[in-house]
Amino acid sequence: LFGYVGIEAVLEQMKVKTMKMGFEFNIMVVGQSGLGKSTMVNTLFKSKVSRKASQPSQEERIPKTVQLQSVTHVIEEKGVKMKLTVTDTPGFGDQINNENCWDPIIKYINEQYERYLREEILITRKRKIPDSRVHGCVYFIPPTGHWLRPLDLEFMRRLSKIVNVVPVIAKADTLTLEEREEFKQRQDLKAHSISVYPQEDFDEDPDDRLLNDRIREKIPFAVVGADQEHQVNGKRVLGRKTKWGIIEVENPEHCEFPMLRDLLIRSHLQDLKDITHNVHYESYRVRRLNESNR
Ligand code: GDP
Ligand code: MG
Repeated sequence: LFGYVGIEAVLEQMKVKTMKMGFEFNIMVVGQSGLGKSTMVNTLFKSKVSRKASQPSQEERIPKTVQLQSVTHVIEEKGVKMKLTVTDTPGFGDQINNENCWDPIIKYINEQYERYLREEILITRKRKIPDSRVHGCVYFIPPTGHWLRPLDLEFMRRLSKIVNVVPVIAKADTLTLEEREEFKQRQDLKAHSISVYPQEDFDEDPDDRLLNDRIREKIPFAVVGADQEHQVNGKRVLGRKTKWGIIEVENPEHCEFPMLRDLLIRSHLQDLKDITHNVHYESYRVRRLNESNR
């Protein structure tokens, strides 16, 4: 009777549905001011996110970020629309007292959960609830000290409880390869039980574990950001000019920006969305509904 179910037809239906609905994906950058967060937002959009030809580069100075601010680009590939939003945050660390510097960021993340929740509990719900929840939060670690500061640990500890945190070593071009390696050898995050993305608890099967172990070894990614293009061997590449030459941000031999980008918007995009919905949003929802039942 069930000799032919037609799984392929089901897959095709799912594909068509996704194509029609499109999807939303939201990233946030967090860290001390001056670590290259705003530059990284531009790097993400200017790098080859889609196969479309890159936009002509605007070479303007990045102003200091003074408030939370989101940039959205709609990227279309093979008929599917992805609405990619990156939220830039003002850096902390400008004040002498950094106590509670995470408050505005935590508040923003929770506000997006709250918005989603309010739509979800309506009697007549939208067929597709607008999703502004933060699916991935890139945390910038200063490239100095070779050790996570108490402030970074505390910030990431709080963040990792409510959102997927992807730590990166900022401005990795200012470190030698040995220094980058030394950074990764440190087990600070583990020692402080801070569970960054991809969390070991959520590996789904041995294959998943194997793939994610390889990623976990590389975390924090040593990234370099740039929003200017340079000529290298007759090609225009995104890069930073230094006295040793041009550091190409999209070249995996030069830095790990490509790994970060691939993790976020290629290999793990759906997983970041799933964990956001099934774990982080779910615990927000339970907490909120318990509160209001009291
Ligand atoms: P934000 O305060 O974290 O948003 O930092 P910005 O993006 O405004 O960058 C601060 C300064 O650092 C600017 O002069 C950037 O050109 C520079 N910068 C950004 N990314 C990098 C990087 O990867 N390496 C180096 N060496 N400098 C960077
Ligand atoms: Mg900024």
